[in-house]
Amino acid sequence: MKVLKFGGTSVGSAERMKGVNQLINTEELKIQKRIIVLSAMSGTTNTLVQISEQLYAKNYPQAALIITEMELKYRKTIGELYKKDESKEKASNLLDAQFGHIRSLAKERERFSNLKERILLAKGEQLSTAMFQLFLEENGVESVLLDALEFMRIDENSEPEMDFIEEQLKIELEKYPDNLLFITQGYICKNSFGEIDNLKRGGSDYSASLIGAAVNAEEIQIWTDIDGMHNNDPRIVDKTMPVAQLSFDEAAELAYFGAKILHPSTITPAKAKNIPVRLLNTMAPHLKGTVITKDAADTNIKAVAAKDNITMINIRSTRMLLAYGFLRKVFEIFEKYKTSIDMVTTSEVCVSVTIDNIANLEQIINELEEFSSIEVNKNMSIVCVVGDLISERVGYAEEIFSSLSTVSIKMISYGGSKNNVSMLIDTQDKKAALQGLNKGLFKL
Ligand code: ADP
Ligand code: ASP
Ligand code: MG
Repeated sequence: MKVLKFGGTSVGSAERMKGVNQLINTEELKIQKRIIVLSAMSGTTNTLVQISEQLYAKNYPQAALIITEMELKYRKTIGELYKKDESKEKASNLLDAQFGHIRSLAKERERFSNLKERILLAKGEQLSTAMFQLFLEENGVESVLLDALEFMRIDENSEPEMDFIEEQLKIELEKYPDNLLFITQGYICKNSFGEIDNLKRGGSDYSASLIGAAVNAEEIQIWTDIDGMHNNDPRIVDKTMPVAQLSFDEAAELAYFGAKILHPSTITPAKAKNIPVRLLNTMAPHLKGTVITKDAADTNIKAVAAKDNITMINIRSTRMLLAYGFLRKVFEIFEKYKTSIDMVTTSEVCVSVTIDNIANLEQIINELEEFSSIEVNKNMSIVCVVGDLISERVGYAEEIFSSLSTVSIKMISYGGSKNNVSMLIDTQDKKAALQGLNKGLFKL
């Protein structure tokens, strides 16, 4: 079994959906069992977020306008996607039903809620998969549409319930023992209350990896709009190049620290089952892309990434810092508010930590202030250099820091992980930092 995930751009138009049909039905793949995980068409989830924002703000006419524009776009796509009148009619009925439901969620005088928002956000993947499966049907390609809501579930901590996913997916697949091709939605799931939920933005990658782990796939392929993981963020620096091979740990660090090509949690399920993850480009399928496996290919610096919206908290206490138990006291507060810490540094009078989830910042500060004085700095970024054994190799520190000679570094984490050196900087310095590292480390 193989799992192939196609991202927003890869299903972003009628033309692209036709391309996906070719990619999943090559002579080699045709004879294999495969599960195709689709994202929403590009831009759709952003549009659904905008509709929700307007509904929360009770701006009903604006919400209605965005819904109408979105529907027009979909009507145009189905006009281009199908040839036969019968398929066009089926697709039109699908849009009637889905947009009817969207409008019912957007009704004036009915309070918009978090649950309605999550139901709305699921529409993108529900539309793309149904449209794609109808396209396969029109072209005589036999396939089964699996409803991700039947098997993808998260618990009360928003963690995937792996045993449930495995069991339910097995039950679903066993209903179709003779079928080879399955289509399902990325991103969407149910939660512990049985409500519709999602795996957070960019979550289709995570869905693919969870599905791959659940069925013990031989490979998980993430098809996107770029030829694999690049050595640096192509949205920020001009010259970047694909990295041919990464270890699970290296890829996980890059995804966690901002490489948007992968949802931060994608690697975890694949690593647990030792399933290779291949990153490929739908626009250039002949290119090798990146393969992510258990072992790293060589001991080199592979790539850099940056994660924004980081908040630094300096916790100062001359009285207690050196007393044992101080750090435990600090960390317990973060644990209590389910806020994970990315970086930590300590000095004689101060502990500095960084967080990216500031939902409970005020309560955290209040509790910390009971025994220390606090300074908070927002708008920071973590720049992370990833490679095999980089913190154990002689000479890398100098290379990294001399590449950043023009940037003010606020915190450094070196040696905590064998494959990562991370630095905290002001977000306004991010471009200079990534460009400096591109020149210094990769000679690009
Ligand atoms: P999809 O819709 O297929 O999930 P995404 O937009 O989520 O695609 O991810 C692909 C994008 O990630 C690329 O177009 C690129 O701009 C961005 N990206 C950021 N960092 C990297 C990186 N290190 N390597 C490759 N792509 C990256
Ligand atoms: N459609 C969702 C999003 O835009 C999930 C994904 O694309 O991975 O975030
Ligand atoms: Mg993505």
